[in-house]
Amino acid sequence: IPVDPFDLVIFGGTGDLARRKILPGLFRRFCAGQMPEGSQIIGAARSEMTTDEYRQMVSDAVAEFGGGLTCEAGTLDAFLNAVSYVTTDAKGDGGWVELNGKMRDDTVRAFYFSVGPSLFGDLAERLHRFGMATPESRIVVEKPFGHDLETARALNATLAQHFHETQIYRIDHYLGKETVQNLMAVRFGNMLFEPLWNAQYVDHIQITVAETVGVGGRGGYYDKSGAMRDMVQNHLMQLLCLIAMEPPAKFDPDAVRDEKLKVIRALEPVDWHHIVRGQYGADKNGPSYRDDVEDPKSRTESFIAMKCHISNWRWAGTPFYLRTGKRLKARASEIAVVFKDAPHSIFGADAGRHRNVLAIRLQPNEGMTLDVTIKEPGPGGMRLLDVPLDMSFAEALGPDAEEAPDAYERLIMDVIRGNQTLFMRGDEVEAAWAWTDPLIEGWQARNDVPKTYDPGSSGPEDALMLMHRDGRKWREVK
Ligand code: NAD
Repeated sequence: IPVDPFDLVIFGGTGDLARRKILPGLFRRFCAGQMPEGSQIIGAARSEMTTDEYRQMVSDAVAEFGGGLTCEAGTLDAFLNAVSYVTTDAKGDGGWVELNGKMRDDTVRAFYFSVGPSLFGDLAERLHRFGMATPESRIVVEKPFGHDLETARALNATLAQHFHETQIYRIDHYLGKETVQNLMAVRFGNMLFEPLWNAQYVDHIQITVAETVGVGGRGGYYDKSGAMRDMVQNHLMQLLCLIAMEPPAKFDPDAVRDEKLKVIRALEPVDWHHIVRGQYGADKNGPSYRDDVEDPKSRTESFIAMKCHISNWRWAGTPFYLRTGKRLKARASEIAVVFKDAPHSIFGADAGRHRNVLAIRLQPNEGMTLDVTIKEPGPGGMRLLDVPLDMSFAEALGPDAEEAPDAYERLIMDVIRGNQTLFMRGDEVEAAWAWTDPLIEGWQARNDVPKTYDPGSSGPEDALMLMHRDGRKWREVK
């Protein structure tokens, strides 16, 4: 869908996120012909820099992080022509008049807050005071959105002083992933799945987001946060909502977000026996978590696994197992809907246990598989076998899949279009914190010490036991 010409200001335009994701993403959209003529991208950050120097930085970022994208000769120059830079201080008044001078009337205005959250309020206030925020303007807010319910509420209130909720785009880049949207297409576009999508037919659901990297240079930030705040409260919660929500009446921002909110509100408090927290140890490839964050007594988790329940008619009694962590065996994210056994096996006990599993892979190699039970080929009688019906998007869609925009590109274009469906609403974020806060307070009150796990493993043994106790097991993600 084409977009109108836009003015996009990237506050923090010299930062890591801008260089790795936002700018290369915009270049890809430009190459795809989706950035209309007359659009401009303005980097705004504290660093003293000229527009020429910024263009060089953008060009380097595209070369390093653009994924080897090749466009027609001259395309990069044309893109850079649309880029400029204004040294702007979020906490002072320097640069704002010049920045305002670049804004055009009758053009979509988007302001991307790619800076630390402590600056969100300053930016909102100055956009307003310098007359840059028109009723049509949008702001894009990065994570983390608050540290707990209280800070999230305060942030929502600050932004609400200057912007209406319909102008605030809280990014969760997991929602921009092709597969995540496909999850909605599969659920609500087919007759096959939705009738079975409930406690009667689904045994349990697993959501895994595994990383191989440690906290690296982000130790200072991460140690104040941990896996629960950094991953579960936002990304895993969003995935859970899309799996568990009722069908919205239409694919419209508030209809979808209303349904997601109902799921979060229906989440039961989690029994602490159903939460496993871990910290990676050291190995030859790297230091331990505590060495990484330079605190030998840190009790922050780099891994968490938990069993949750949703108290509503659809899901009563169906466990949702969530796990996420750093320095694990593989970099892989997957949602698996594990269906119940057939009620009676006509093939006898020897046929073993066979189950349908719908697995939605977010990375690597985005796609879906449906495990189906068939007869083992050959003359050996009626033996059963589970085989995956595999739908890798890259294979199924061919070159079109490669052209598919990555999460940030898609979300930025949705901002320009004014479509909030894939962005978190303020009340959703607050409800998610209202569920996570007591869990965090609980383990803090108990002085819970995370279990150490081997780097390159699947996390602490207790996380495996969380499933084994219930007669289930985690799927191998690779
Ligand atoms: P960064 O430290 O690399 O960059 C920060 C940017 O903010 C720089 O451009 C800096 O010049 C600018 N800045 C700092 N103080 C300023 C001030 N007073 N006035 C104007 N500009 C100022 O940070 P980052 O990694 O790019 O992250 C930016 C935001 O995105 C953070 O909220 C972060 O949590 C979030 N985020 C980052 C990533 C990532 O991969 N880097 C991923 C998800 C979310």
